[in-house]
Amino acid sequence: MNKLENPLDSDLAGPAPRHRTTQVKVGDVAVGGGAPIVVQSMTNTDTADIDGTIAQVAALARAGSEMVRITVDREEAAAAVPHIRDGLAKRGITTPLIGDFHYIGHKLLAAYPACAEALAKYRINPGNVGFKDKRDTQFADIIEIANRNSKPVRIGANWGSLDQELLTKLMDENAASANPRDVRAVTREAMVQSALLSAARAEELGMPKDRIILSAKVSAVQDLIAVYQDLASRSDYAIHLGLTEAGMGTKGIVASSAALGILLQQGIGDTIRISLTPEPGGDRTREVQVGQELLQTMGFRTFVPLVAACPGCGRTTSTTFQELARSIQDFIRDEMPAWKTKYPGVEELNVAVMGCIVNGPGESKHANIGISLPGTGEAPAAPVFVDGKKFRTLRGPTISADFKALVIDYIDQRYGQGAKAPVTAAE
Ligand code: SF4
Repeated sequence: MNKLENPLDSDLAGPAPRHRTTQVKVGDVAVGGGAPIVVQSMTNTDTADIDGTIAQVAALARAGSEMVRITVDREEAAAAVPHIRDGLAKRGITTPLIGDFHYIGHKLLAAYPACAEALAKYRINPGNVGFKDKRDTQFADIIEIANRNSKPVRIGANWGSLDQELLTKLMDENAASANPRDVRAVTREAMVQSALLSAARAEELGMPKDRIILSAKVSAVQDLIAVYQDLASRSDYAIHLGLTEAGMGTKGIVASSAALGILLQQGIGDTIRISLTPEPGGDRTREVQVGQELLQTMGFRTFVPLVAACPGCGRTTSTTFQELARSIQDFIRDEMPAWKTKYPGVEELNVAVMGCIVNGPGESKHANIGISLPGTGEAPAAPVFVDGKKFRTLRGPTISADFKALVIDYIDQRYGQGAKAPVTAAE
């Protein structure tokens, strides 16, 4: 095996260069063209419920969603949009709102100009914008309104609502060809063509390229990877990545992370949404957290301090370290909205919470601040390491509280106003 064939021999580590795309401004947020990859999310409230939607957009924005999509499915929803935008502004939240339109978007945008103005972007599904001879005029109506308001659009093809005329045409051509491809390959081609043909039509209608974002969402991981690779190789439009109908819980997280992780590593994707199905009554902001953690663990962006924790094993006799890891993680995430302004750069912090002496001291030394809790048979003492040096040893029933206090002190001294020096080590 030569040097290039064995990745372990390579000095190279990290993603491929980003796929070159045209930058689009969505409100104040830059998407594509080398801008940081943007995390976005979507509400699941009835948009006509103004207070409920304001509350959820505010929660998503507080969690770190940099754009939020809302459904605009009927007149009451369209009428509510400017009030939602204004209500958020009163709370100091200016996160761009994206309107999600299907079937009657042309009518709603025309009848509710304040809605068209309040939204920062319109999402159009080319498979759901009208049928047969009406499709072209309804699509043109939306593009014309977007042009008049200087708004960008996302042309979002979706496997579940694919342009049936285009799909039928490609299937017929495939059946008549000498070397027909399998049905999934033809369907993937229809997805890509649906997005690209609609984008070309939007440009014919006067929409500049720097107001067009494309997506082509599929629910199967391998199909999604193939579709986006194709889309990226055939255009330089800004790209919204997302696995549609990813599912609940770990299934949704794993499937989205696998699909999006591979594409991001290949340099594809300018904005992402993790489409998780929440548990009944579950927290909608989870999808934002997963999106952020995906980008951060891959090294694309930093959002919150990372807490490295060992998985625990037979050398741990209690749940102390699990509880401490969880408590520190939750504490950091809860405090981050305030810390962002109070402690610039705090998102770079690394904390380690380890279960025993095997990897505890070593891993803790690699963190800014880390603790190695006592495992089975070890002395009931927990050394704390700060910037690679042993700083203090904690003992007794207040280890958790004491370590948390040390983390806060470290953050204050390292990132607080006028104190940039690392904490001095002292036993
Ligand atoms: S650090 Fe210790 S407790 Fe944690 S997994 Fe490794 S051996 Fe087990």
